[in-house]
Amino acid sequence: MITRLLNKVFRRSHSAGRPPTVVGKGGHNIRHEHISQAARRTTATLQEHGYLAFVVGGAVRDLLLGVQPKDFDVATNATPEQVHALFRRSRIIGRRFRLVHVMFGGETIEVSTFRGGHDEHAGTDEHGRILRDNVWGTQEEDARRRDFTVNALFFDPQREEVWDWHGGVTDLKARRLRMIGDPIKRYREDPVRMLRAARLSAKLGLNIDRPTSAPIRELAPLLRNVPEARLFDELVKLLMSGQAAQCLRALHAEGLDRDLLPQLDAALREPVSERFILAALANTDQRITEDKPVSPTFLLAALLWPQVFKAWQAAEAAGERPVPALLEAMNVALDGQAKKLPIPRRFDAGMKEIWLLQPRFLQRNGQRPMRLLENPRFRAAYDFFRLRAEAGETEMEVADWWEDFQNANPVDRESLLVTESTGSASPRRRRRRRGPRRDGAGEGAA
Ligand code: ATP
Ligand code: MG
Repeated sequence: MITRLLNKVFRRSHSAGRPPTVVGKGGHNIRHEHISQAARRTTATLQEHGYLAFVVGGAVRDLLLGVQPKDFDVATNATPEQVHALFRRSRIIGRRFRLVHVMFGGETIEVSTFRGGHDEHAGTDEHGRILRDNVWGTQEEDARRRDFTVNALFFDPQREEVWDWHGGVTDLKARRLRMIGDPIKRYREDPVRMLRAARLSAKLGLNIDRPTSAPIRELAPLLRNVPEARLFDELVKLLMSGQAAQCLRALHAEGLDRDLLPQLDAALREPVSERFILAALANTDQRITEDKPVSPTFLLAALLWPQVFKAWQAAEAAGERPVPALLEAMNVALDGQAKKLPIPRRFDAGMKEIWLLQPRFLQRNGQRPMRLLENPRFRAAYDFFRLRAEAGETEMEVADWWEDFQNANPVDRESLLVTESTGSASPRRRRRRRGPRRDGAGEGAA
């Protein structure tokens, strides 16, 4: 009740602070039908009950750039309890930041209450990192606590107005990524903002404004104070942005890669591993553009592969058998990575599977190829092997053979198998294939 009252007062007098620029219908390209129905209904219901409600953040920015947003978030002055009371299918989530998930059909809208009050209430650690920012605030404060001007834009779907508190619309037109407030202070409050600067500039093709980029190199070590799980989530966002290659380039340009992927720099200095990593990144970006499924596991496996391969070769040269050598090499690479940013269990198991299947592509005789084909990780491991061949690390002829083998019908597959002694396709099997009864036997064996 008090919040509502305060907000009514605030609504009439927000010019007490610096008022936002309200860009009306004619001044921007967002129409209300660009907003998902669920987000429109959420904002409309909140407004009908006297609250402020806007689509906010990345969605507004993306729509102004003509990009389809991933999802729609809503910001309001209603508290989580007030939001929850208005929507039958909603639930309050989170402990530190309480948000409401409002469900409509298959869509979930994240509704957050305006937050603010940094300066007076927030606790920080000795580096200036914010430890608490769960204080409700006004819309103006909520805009100010956001990171970049282009992320502090609010869209009212009913009035079709963009509320711009920090000049984000002008910055977007100039394709400029600019921090709200003092960049050094804002990076100290939350060092992840440095990674977000690299990712958003790469993903959206924005230039990082000079004062926003200048402090990054020096402040990059502050990333070490950020909880690993959060850094890892941000790394995955980078890799899955559809612009992974650009993002890594931006990370490198800003000196941010060392603390996330400590061995990447060395890998990119070697032509074969550079080709391999760039091909893996391009391949994933392409799949994302085509809306095909992608997994961070594959890219993480690729980014660490040059270290694995190098250590594998070294162990083999020292007289180890291939598989134990590979196992040892995998641990060397993962340990090296773990010194900066350990890869969580849920990913490293899949990475190890992809790596461990690599030597098996060289075995093309007997039942082994069939068994590999039936492995649930075959497709990922094969794509990985092919990228290695494209980079010149292994034989393209072998990759082509596997392409033929998996596409062949079960009968033709047998004729492709290689005999142990000669290394060529088996004449015995080829002969066998001709007999109709033996075809059946071949399939049964497959
Ligand atoms: P994406 O397209 O990747 O979702 P986004 O900008 O929407 O980009 P989110 O992580 O979804 O990123 O965050 C939503 C909004 O929350 C941002 O637009 C920004 O306003 C704010 N925000 C997110 N992270 C931070 C941060 N570290 N510091 C300040 N504001 C942030
Ligand atoms: Mg978002």
